[in-house]
Amino acid sequence: MRYISTRGDQTARRFCEILLEGLAPDGGLYLPVSYPTVERATLRQWRQLSYADLAFEILSLYIDDIPPEDLKTLCHKTYTADVFGTEAIVPVRRLAGDLHIEALSNGPTLAFKDMAMQLLGNLFEYELARRGEILNILGATSGDTGSAAEYAMRGKKGVRVFMTSPKGRMSPFQQAQMFSLLDENIHNIAIEGVFDDCQDIVKAVSNDLAFKSKHRIGTVNSINWARLLAQVVYYFAGYLQATTDDDQRVSFTVPSGNFGNVCAGHVARMMGLPIDQLVVATNENNVLDEFFRTGIYRVRASAETYETSSPSMDISKASNFERFIYDLLGRDGARVEALFQDAINQGGQFDLSDTPEFKAAAARYGFVSGTSTHADRLATIRDVFNRHGEMIDTHTADGVKVARAHVKSGTPMLVLETALPIKFAETIVEATGQEPPRPAKFEGIEALPKRVLNMPADVKQVKAYIEANT
Ligand SMILES: *Cc1c(COP(=O)(O)O)cnc(C)c1O
Repeated sequence: MRYISTRGDQTARRFCEILLEGLAPDGGLYLPVSYPTVERATLRQWRQLSYADLAFEILSLYIDDIPPEDLKTLCHKTYTADVFGTEAIVPVRRLAGDLHIEALSNGPTLAFKDMAMQLLGNLFEYELARRGEILNILGATSGDTGSAAEYAMRGKKGVRVFMTSPKGRMSPFQQAQMFSLLDENIHNIAIEGVFDDCQDIVKAVSNDLAFKSKHRIGTVNSINWARLLAQVVYYFAGYLQATTDDDQRVSFTVPSGNFGNVCAGHVARMMGLPIDQLVVATNENNVLDEFFRTGIYRVRASAETYETSSPSMDISKASNFERFIYDLLGRDGARVEALFQDAINQGGQFDLSDTPEFKAAAARYGFVSGTSTHADRLATIRDVFNRHGEMIDTHTADGVKVARAHVKSGTPMLVLETALPIKFAETIVEATGQEPPRPAKFEGIEALPKRVLNMPADVKQVKAYIEANT
């Protein structure tokens, strides 16, 4: 398998060449030259497999520059009951009728990002050792991504993490989760400022090309193809749990922000997994819902990006969306470049409402969408708690709210559970009057010793710290 860019660069790269990269050199995103298809007979055989073996089968279709025995070892090392809480790794449970929840949030940081990040940690360690290189990951986080990256990279050889976060602005639980990591290769830097200040520092350091290459600075952002690929696996795993024979179809509802999670569902569907609908659920920041309803993709300015009670979906621009547009437009890189480079980067929008491609999109690709608000979120959390005795997190609640509008009788609808309620306890208490359950391994984490360095929002000081610690 080879990989090309969504903006027209046809240079065919192998998996390990793009593993440690962000964007393609032309500013596009990497995609495989074509999607391998999975026949029904193969799907049937896969019903027998453990999650780790299923992951190995799917990854093998996309990775041919890691020896199979090594790839298998990496999959088995990653997807264990010990790390993810159950043998099923992503257990599906019925909520009511055709509505199901697929649990993706029982990994180390209790959010679905662990599903991909844990594999990425092992892939990075493997590839860096093979090359005899090291990588210093620099990131900015307001919560989920940073902790998932740290828990994936802790103790890994050849990798260090420098994670900036806005001082005092993450929830006490999130701070405890990150700052209680005492591993030598994990560096928490609390910046006196807001999330944007952290992101500006990361950008400034990355734009200093000499510094970047001297100190081998990299990132782990959501456009990384390996992350997306790891996520494809749980669409197959969910399908296989919710069906008994291979002619059945299922739908998925995906709480969405950067379009990374649901884009993996798109890839699974392109591979032939019998998916009926891919339901994109957004919060008040409904850039994606607007597109799927109208054909207009309108990036929002910061002032128009709301802080909501499902904060991991608070995005103004969906960084993975370009991958779907590339497929939608028949893989025309020049057209994609014109839309994203010219229209979007100049703060604008694009309008595909009159194109035949957009008009055929729902039928051809299965995408539909919906928006959920704070009031919807509270009502859904309360309703699920009262009727089914379960607590769901705020993002998952957005999913359930939107899923209910699209569920078809007889077709299982799997809502992806993207976080556990304990991470967003305040809103759960607001909705139900009760504290969400806390998994045993997080009992008392607020009292653990912390390792975090406070720093003003000053690029020079961050650079000096990296310099002194690499
Ligand atoms: C990151 C995240 C999302 C959004 O996922 P995308 O891949 O960005 O669409 C949804 N819910 C939670 C809890 C998250 O952490």
